[in-house]
Amino acid sequence: MDLRESPETQTFRAEVAGFVAARLPPDIRAKVLGFLRIERQDYVRWQRILNERGWGAPSWPREQGGTGWNARQRSLFEEECFVAGAPRQMPFGLSMVGPVLQAFGSEHQQKRFLPRILTMEDWWCQGYSEPGAGSDLASLTTRAERQDDVYIVNGQKTWTSFAHWANWIFCLVRTRASGKPQEGISFLLIDMTSPGVRVKPIRTLDEGADVNEVFLDDVAVPMANLVGEENRGWTIAKFLLGHERTTIAGIGTCKRLLVRLKELARSEPKRGRPLIEDPRFRDRIVKVEIDVRAHEWSLMRASSLEQAGKSIGAEASILKIRGSEIQQELSQLLMECAGPYAIPHLPEALNAEFAGETADGHGLNALAAQYLDLRKVSIYGGTNEVQKNLIARALLGSQP
Ligand SMILES: Cc1cc2nc3c(=O)[nH]c(=O)nc-3n(C[C@H](O)[C@H](O)[C@H](O)COP(=O)(O)OP(=O)(O)OC[C@H]3O[C@@H](n4cnc5c(N)ncnc54)[C@H](O)[C@@H]3O)c2cc1C
Repeated sequence: MDLRESPETQTFRAEVAGFVAARLPPDIRAKVLGFLRIERQDYVRWQRILNERGWGAPSWPREQGGTGWNARQRSLFEEECFVAGAPRQMPFGLSMVGPVLQAFGSEHQQKRFLPRILTMEDWWCQGYSEPGAGSDLASLTTRAERQDDVYIVNGQKTWTSFAHWANWIFCLVRTRASGKPQEGISFLLIDMTSPGVRVKPIRTLDEGADVNEVFLDDVAVPMANLVGEENRGWTIAKFLLGHERTTIAGIGTCKRLLVRLKELARSEPKRGRPLIEDPRFRDRIVKVEIDVRAHEWSLMRASSLEQAGKSIGAEASILKIRGSEIQQELSQLLMECAGPYAIPHLPEALNAEFAGETADGHGLNALAAQYLDLRKVSIYGGTNEVQKNLIARALLGSQP
């Protein structure tokens, strides 16, 4: 607990902590704290528990079913949930397409989709990247051609996280081939159960399969699923990326990893003494803890600006870079704490049902998967190198 917290803050923190302690299902908590695989239904279950309490959308305005909390309350909520072992609230609906629909969607779209995001009746995924369009997103080629009252969509998306669990995808599509590439892009909502949508898994370094290729062959999409105006999707795309990058900043993950790091450093020995008593290792923990604190305050500053209706641009890139660097540093320190026990990577041991033996006997093998998994944070949402370009452009104009 932060000693400088006001009585109101302490009351709020205690209320959240009490609720999470009482309502977070123990099987989900065990998976999260053990770095085990979390299933679709686990995320949905927790989201519904939060939503019943009125906490389904911490960052949405009250009139849209959100909490109306300020930045400090949201940060505290995230910290209490993550440290107690709650799974993250999936960002694709809540922090990506939800805010887009609130800002750019028609009344019909808002009424249809927003309540289903809160209850997770719809699982959304993000169809931005393509095999030839990652950092250079504006060069995307998936086309949507108007035919009577539908768009016919053809193309391929890639690296689509959780597409295998999703029933809706928000896609950037090309609706005009001429002119500046950014000016021919539209933002479409596509029902994944439509004929012509095919999902193919991609295996990643940690032997997980959270990412996919999505093929769109002659998929008919009602015109009513266009968000905003045709060919004006680039503005929406950038608005969404700002929200995505702030989410990737991952303060909850940082705090959970920090708590775990300190626990492990207390229990793992070095030359007969707990590792945390080693001055050099302790210095590294202190440094990363200071980084987490500074990151938290930067995030709250940016969230307050957003809440006041100001758009954040380069700030989102800074937060994304710092958040991913800190998460990677924490996972590195965790690996060092566990020493040789952390090295064997046994993918099947990540399933909660796994009954076999691991090298250490107390769950440290899952650290390798966590370490490998967190390598991707500096890539998705736009690579850190590209974020540095965006920051430089914001500071120096178009010189770089
Ligand atoms: C685990 C994971 C999940 C993802 N989930 C999704 C998702 O759900 N939906 C989605 O749409 N996308 C998703 N992505 C895609 C992600 O956004 C892209 O991978 C990312 O934008 C980079 O694009 P790319 O892979 O095509 O790499 P490239 O653009 O080909 O870049 C390759 C390398 O070149 C560097 N580079 C490129 N251009 C520049 C430049 N101008 N200056 C300096 N360096 C440069 C990059 O930093 C990178 O190191 C995901 C990616 C990963 C790894």
